Amino acid sequence: MNTPISDTFGDQLRQMRTELLAQVRAQRGGRVGRAEAAADARENVGDDRAQADAERDLSIALEERESAELVAIDEALKRIADGSYGLCVDCGVSIATARLHAAPTALRCVACQDKVEHAQGGVNVPKM
Ligand SMILES: [Zn+2]
Repeated sequence: MNTPISDTFGDQLRQMRTELLAQVRAQRGGRVGRAEAAADARENVGDDRAQADAERDLSIALEERESAELVAIDEALKRIADGSYGLCVDCGVSIATARLHAAPTALRCVACQDKVEHAQGGVNVPKM
């Protein structure tokens, strides 16, 4: 199901993804990191296996926070593709548009997010 809201946030999420990747690349620009080392290795060897290794190293080189953000963006894009975007994963209600504008990767409505945050620390409180 393609709704206008999915189109709007799809564009926004794809842009966030592009900017995030550019940001990661820029951060690596100042020093020789794993990504550069991997790129050198690929140039020197130049076979498919080296390229696969280089790509794997590049993804390892992403900072943990940024890769988590990237995963969240990809998950949101997947939900847009399957039509479940904008619906709370826990209770199924439509997430408020204002909330999606503030956090396009939001999985839950405010009420459910609240519950999840209170349940953090490994304690899973059963519903009464
Ligand atoms: Zn909910």
